[in-house]
This record gives sequence, structure tokens and C-alpha cells, in this order.
Amino acid sequence: MTKKFKVGILGATGMVGQRFIQLLEDHPQFEITALAASDRSQGKSFEEACTWRLAGEMPAFVKSMTVEAPQPPLHCDLIFSSLPGDIARESEGAFAHAGFPVISNSSAFRMDSDVPLLIPEVNPEHIALLAVQRKNYAGQQGYVVTNPNCSTIMLALALAPLQAKFGVSSVVATTMQALSGAGYPGVASLAINDNVLPFIDGEEEKIEQETLKILGRLHDDTIDKAAMNVSAQCNRVNVSDGHMAAVRVKLVKAATIDEVREALASFIGLPQERRFHSAPERPIIMREELDRPQPRLDRDAGKGMSVTIGRLQTDNVLDYRFVALSHNTIRGAAGAAILNAELLVATGTLT
Ligand code: NAP
Repeated sequence: MTKKFKVGILGATGMVGQRFIQLLEDHPQFEITALAASDRSQGKSFEEACTWRLAGEMPAFVKSMTVEAPQPPLHCDLIFSSLPGDIARESEGAFAHAGFPVISNSSAFRMDSDVPLLIPEVNPEHIALLAVQRKNYAGQQGYVVTNPNCSTIMLALALAPLQAKFGVSSVVATTMQALSGAGYPGVASLAINDNVLPFIDGEEEKIEQETLKILGRLHDDTIDKAAMNVSAQCNRVNVSDGHMAAVRVKLVKAATIDEVREALASFIGLPQERRFHSAPERPIIMREELDRPQPRLDRDAGKGMSVTIGRLQTDNVLDYRFVALSHNTIRGAAGAAILNAELLVATGTLT
């Protein structure tokens, strides 16, 4: 029988924390043994502390677990973190210092030069930064790996095959981001009903910076950032789940639209080759209908782990344009972190 790693979830009562619990319920490699949240929830049973906001019932096995403080030690082998960015650094750092692998979904450590910012299909080799992290933190046994911001991840997945085959010199992305991306209760209903909000704090910078790190090359223990211009504008729209982005790209090497479509449609990576449990068969699903992708119809593609791309056309300003969509709390958050954990197991990093 495969060894099951015991996992603790920080921020377990939140939108992403609940996704972790849902996705890990029957996972063959991980079992949840600890849950942590704020002092509003600590000491209560999970059932008492958490209002379940996902479709279906709260999984029975977590109901009677006691919510703890997000501080070491917890009874587990590794940590999944979905803490708010402003408190994540201290808490995740403390767990790494205490010897725990921390697989973080928050922004706190993403841009640190010794922290891998991973998408297993795109840059699994960036795991090598963990050796630098160990050196920088005086041989500590714990470590932090991160997954990208919920909009960055679909953009980077879409750009990866284009960059590999043709090179990408410029990208302009305009996002339409779902309400669940702001956590619960998130945006006030009176602010978003019949409305679009053209500001999401910090989001444009995250997309612009994280994309260059993810698509960058590992060279002498550092990441040489990808040499491309990325411009992002972010909007909050009145959709429950599923972030969408209208994307324009300029390629380095000329390519026909059929070559671009083929590069996107045929893209696979290590998770597909090695058949990771959470890997979708296709990381990118191409749609040819004129009115797809749409959040309601496409966010659950590949059990929420595929990016759906449609509306691929030549563009009068840059070379090509398309619309990308992915599930923000699955491929954009909990599912991404779990796929990272599966990568750590598959590469022998987590034993
Ligand atoms: P959320 O619904 O607001 O949940 C926040 C969680 O953190 C809750 O469990 C909350 O516990 C806990 N928490 C809040 N303040 C705390 C404190 N001072 N000490 C300890 N725990 C505290 O937020 P979310 O949407 O799940 O997002 C969580 C993280 O994931 C954020 O860093 C966010 O940027 C990132 N993320 C979110 C998405 C998304 O689509 N939602 C996507 C990618 C990344 P209580 O219930 O006890 O208050």
C-alpha cells in the first residue's frame, strides 16, 4: 500500500481551505490530520467553526476535528497553507523553520529568489531552488514551495507552449475575475451587482512579476527571468467561480494560427507523463465554438484543473489573441498546491 502523508491545512475554514478538504477527501497519497485557522475558530470543532460554502456536504471526517492555531507543531508531515498573504510569511516561515515542508498558496514567499514558484507542467526543474533555500536558512530541514496567483497560473500555462515553440516577446492580458477569488465574504454585493470593478489590489503586479519568474530559466542556482513584456489589467466581475483573461501575444518567431493552435492543444508535461493523481489529461483544452470559454460551462473542465482556451484569432496589434479560463480555487489555488505536492513526491523531494 502507498504511504499516506499526514497533512495540516492552514486557513482551513476559508474558500481555499475548504477546497483543500474537498480535493483531499479521497486522495491516495495524503490524509488530513490537522486543521488550523484564526483565533475566531481555534478550539472549536471544524463543524462549529466553519460554514461550508462549497456544493455538497462538509466531508464527515473533518467535522469533529479541532481547529488549531497556525503555529508549529501540528500533527502532520507537511503543511498546505491558504492563509491571507499578510500573516502567511510569519506562520509558514515558522513551520519551515520547525522542519515542515510548506506547500503554500499565498503570495508571501512567491517572489523570494530561493523559493520555487511552481506549475508542474511548466517549470518542475525550479524545485532545484530548494537546495539554495536550505543553504540560505542554515540547513533547515523544512522548506517552502509556492504556486502562482490564481490568474497568473492560467496565463503562464497558456504561454508555456508558445514560449517553448516560438518564443513570446509581449503579452497583454485583461482579466475578468470571479468573486470567490476574494475569499468569503469578499466583495460587498452592493458593490458588484450590476457592476464591474476595475481594481483588484496587487493583482496586476503579481501577474506581471510571477509570469516572468515561472517562465524563467534556472541558471547557476538562480532564475533568469523570461525576457518578455507582460502587461496586465484586472477586473472583478459578477461570476461565482472561474477567472477569465483576454490575452494578446507577440511571438518571437513567426507561426501560423494552426501551429499556435497545435502547440496549445498538444501541450502536456510531467504530471501527464507520470500520471499524477490530480493531473488533468489535458492541461489546455482548446475550444472552437465562437462563444467559448464561459465560466459556467468551462470552469470544471478536467475536474477544475484544465485551462480552457478559445477565440484564438490573428490580431491587428500583436500577433494572436485568445481567451483563457480556469477555476480559480482549483487550478488557481488548492488543486495547484496539491499538484505541487504530488510533484514533490514524484521527484523524491518529499519522502
Ligand atoms: P478566506 O476565505 O478569507 O479564508 C481565510 C482563511 O484564513 C480562513 O481560514 C481564516 O480563518 C484564516 N485567517 C484569517 N485571518 C487569520 C489570522 N489572523 N490568523 C490565522 N488564520 C487567519 O480567503 P481565501 O480566499 O481562502 O484565500 C486564502 C489565501 O489563498 C490568500 O492568501 C489568497 O490570496 C490565496 N488565494 C486565494 C484564491 C481564491 O481564488 N480564493 C486563489 C489563489 C490564492 P477564520 O475562518 O478563523 O477567520
